[in-house]
Amino acid sequence: MTSPEPLDLLHLGRERVIGVYLLETDDGLALLDCGPASCFETLEQRLSERRLALADVGHLLLTHIHLDHAGAAGTLVREHPELRVHVSAVGAPHLVDPARLEASARRIYGDDFDRLWGELAPVPEANVELVGERVLGLECFPTPGHASHHVSYIDADGTLYGGDATGVRVHPSEFVLPPTPPPDIDIAAWHRSLDVIEARDPARLALIHFGVFDDVERHLAELRRRLDEWAERVERGASEQEFVTAARREALGATREDLPAYEQAISLVDSYAGLRRYFDKRAAA
Ligand SMILES: [Zn+2]
Repeated sequence: MTSPEPLDLLHLGRERVIGVYLLETDDGLALLDCGPASCFETLEQRLSERRLALADVGHLLLTHIHLDHAGAAGTLVREHPELRVHVSAVGAPHLVDPARLEASARRIYGDDFDRLWGELAPVPEANVELVGERVLGLECFPTPGHASHHVSYIDADGTLYGGDATGVRVHPSEFVLPPTPPPDIDIAAWHRSLDVIEARDPARLALIHFGVFDDVERHLAELRRRLDEWAERVERGASEQEFVTAARREALGATREDLPAYEQAISLVDSYAGLRRYFDKRAAA
């Protein structure tokens, strides 16, 4: 099989921010993550460019339930009631009843919520499948760290669909960032998840933000290094302003023209907040 290609959902009109994947599986076509409802029409357009309709896709495999990855799941099921939605057991209740997820996202994004994400429709429980160790011929395994309920998938060709566990890197840049938003970042768990990924020796990484990369070892080493650097800065007491300024300076050094795509895929302010919360929780424990 050739390397997979992201379906660019042109989030807010920008290229290379959110790209989902269309997979041939043991049971027909599957989407790997679906993006937010605000990208639904673009998703349909990407399918129609391949002479496909949503009804041709039998399955949706989700890495985690954050809105940029799974926000459109309920909308997709409403349009295509046969769709099977595969998700981790911890994530599933939030798809069925997204009220809490929506309330907390509205607190963060305020008036911008609707423009960014669109509606958050519930997924009927009857459409939900809890993932096990194998899903449609892919291996599936927990990869907590970015989110406690995060899972990753690897296919027989060695393509690893690691969601946000494998970081943010806008093709063709080499620069890798760890998205660390609230509420349940866990640095130690994230490193263990990267151990588990490396043990599977993937041939390539298919990132949602954004693109497919085959320099796996270098990519994951940079992700680990930057995760530790960011964590250390926040642990040592950097302010939000200091954290954001330093991260942006590094990004500018590495990738001037792709910076807007990076900053749309990963909020540095949220990343600071997630790390701050992680260390505050640990201090309180
Ligand atoms: Zn994401």
